[in-house]
Amino acid sequence: MKKLVIATQNQNKFKEMKEALAGIPWGLQPAFDFPGAPEVLEDGKTLEENSLKKAREVALFTGLPSLADDTGLFVDFIGGQPGIYAARFAGENCTYEDNVRKLLGLLEKAPDESRGAVFKTVITFFRPDGSFDQVAGEIGGTITRSARGEGGFGYDPIFLPAGHSKVFAEMTLDEKNRISHRGQAVQKAKELLKD
Ligand code: IMP
Repeated sequence: MKKLVIATQNQNKFKEMKEALAGIPWGLQPAFDFPGAPEVLEDGKTLEENSLKKAREVALFTGLPSLADDTGLFVDFIGGQPGIYAARFAGENCTYEDNVRKLLGLLEKAPDESRGAVFKTVITFFRPDGSFDQVAGEIGGTITRSARGEGGFGYDPIFLPAGHSKVFAEMTLDEKNRISHRGQAVQKAKELLKD
């Protein structure tokens, strides 16, 4: 079976993508299975740039086609922050909990109608010949006033997708994948991987 490297060091992302990609004629391997695989510096100005950089570096290192996701969270009340800087919002080496605490703090005085936010994901499929395709997914919702649920990762305990009563962290992997930014992008990536 052909091999496809998922260009991430994040176990949660790999788990979500693997489940969402079930059924494609490719064997999936995470970049963290390749000793010495580069920790790609996300220094681009857009999700597209960072996603492409991750996919390209991992494909060149492994010599295999790769799939990379870059995700941002854009919160209205704070002018679209943390945006593409969602990972290190609370500082270098911060935890997911630090980021959630910081965001809830910044939104403490935000009324319900100003708590809108959008998750966006850009996925790049990069081939060793240097060609690539990009697809995207996004979902709107609101930031809750406190953390809920045990599942997911990152900002999942405080992101309530529009039209739903559970935050992402209260959903199963399958429920989240069916509606999420990443799930939507992966469905489009699946089309690219069919043949
Ligand atoms: P990355 O730059 O694509 O690795 O993602 C940036 C950060 O966004 C991650 O470190 C997480 O904190 C957050 N994030 C990415 N995807 C999700 C998600 O599906 N749910 C909640 N938070 C996420």
